[in-house]
Amino acid sequence: MEYIKAIHNLLFPTRDICYICREKSKGMEGSICKNCYSFLEVVNREVELDSSYVKRAYYAIVYNRLGKQIVGDFKFNGKGYLYRPLGELMANTIYDKDIGPLDMVIYVPSHRRKEALRGYNQSRLLAEYIAQVLEIPISHDNLIKTRHTKEQRTLNRHDRMINLRDAFKLKNSHEIDEKRILLIDDILTTGSTMIECGKVLMVNGAKEVIGLAITSSKRF
Ligand SMILES: [Zn+2]
Repeated sequence: MEYIKAIHNLLFPTRDICYICREKSKGMEGSICKNCYSFLEVVNREVELDSSYVKRAYYAIVYNRLGKQIVGDFKFNGKGYLYRPLGELMANTIYDKDIGPLDMVIYVPSHRRKEALRGYNQSRLLAEYIAQVLEIPISHDNLIKTRHTKEQRTLNRHDRMINLRDAFKLKNSHEIDEKRILLIDDILTTGSTMIECGKVLMVNGAKEVIGLAITSSKRF
C-alpha cells in the first residue's frame, strides 16, 4: 500500500482516523487501521469470466466477515464514505496486478429509482476515486441502466442472465471509441452484470474492457 499511502497523503490531510472502525490509530494502511486491515483478506485476485467481452476481471478482498459487513454498510446502510478505504484497496489491486494501460474508467450504473433511494451509486463513488488516483478520465451517465431489474443475488445464474438482458445501454459511443476501459462494480458474483456491461461497451467500439470489483461472493 506504499504507493497509495503516498498519493493519499498528497490528496488528503492524514488524520489517523480509521474509516472502518472510526478509532484513532497510529500506523495506518491508507485510511484503514492496522487492526481492521488484519481482518481483511487482501488477495488482488484475477478471475476467469469466460466471456469475450471482458478481457480480464479482478477483485481486491475476500468476502469474509469484515468484507461482507463493510460492503453491506457501503451498499445498503448509507455509509457512502466507505468509498475511501474500498477505493484504496481496489487501486492497490491495479498496481499489484500491473493492470493497464487504461484510458478510461466506467462504473456499473444503477437504476435511477434505486439510486434515489440510496442517495448515491456506490460503484460511481469508487470509480471517481480510482479515476482520480490513476489520473484518467471517467465516463459519467453514458452507460445507463434502462430498466429496473431484480436484485441479482436472489437469482440463479440462468435467471440472472435473463434478468439483465438488454438492461444496459450506451448513449454516446464516440466517447469510448478504441478506449481501454476499466469497468468498476461492487460485488462480483457470477460476473453476469460485468459481462452484460462489457458487451454493451465492446459492441459500441471499446478496445478492451477490464473488470474490477471490491470483492466476490463466489470463490473463483
Ligand atoms: Zn479500524
